[in-house]
Amino acid sequence: MYQHCPSCRADLEDREIDAVVRRACPACAFVEWGNPTPTAMVLVRCGERCLFIRQPFFPPGHWGLVNGFVERGETAEQAAVREVKEEVGLDVRLATMAGTFSFEPKNLLLIGFVADSDTMAVEQSTEISEWEWVTPDEVESLRLGDSVRAIARVATQ
Ligand SMILES: [Zn+2]
Repeated sequence: MYQHCPSCRADLEDREIDAVVRRACPACAFVEWGNPTPTAMVLVRCGERCLFIRQPFFPPGHWGLVNGFVERGETAEQAAVREVKEEVGLDVRLATMAGTFSFEPKNLLLIGFVADSDTMAVEQSTEISEWEWVTPDEVESLRLGDSVRAIARVATQ
């Protein structure tokens, strides 16, 4: 959140616009809309196994999926394939979209995908601290966030 207008430096004020209170500039037209950042989240399968990862900041015992911001000029599908390559070194084919989810603490719009890989040969990047290929039965006992759980259900049904 900005304190001062990034355009003219005036102090921002709260103003109701389109039924939502937003930070707006009293001196110029700047409004901090606060729209979420589109973020691709990908469950990678190889056969029936599913790839789960941990990032350094995850709470102990929690597992998640490869994810990353959609870049300017990119589709969510392109971001999904690119992020998988960058984070775990796999070339994947997208199988299906698996819903969208709001993650309000970080103001993200998560766009879920299921993708298939021909190999389990992960090349771990520094963004990942741990990874595991998991069977559908084992998925049930993993500690997952709601959005990850929902994407996992699509991948294993
Ligand atoms: Zn301003």
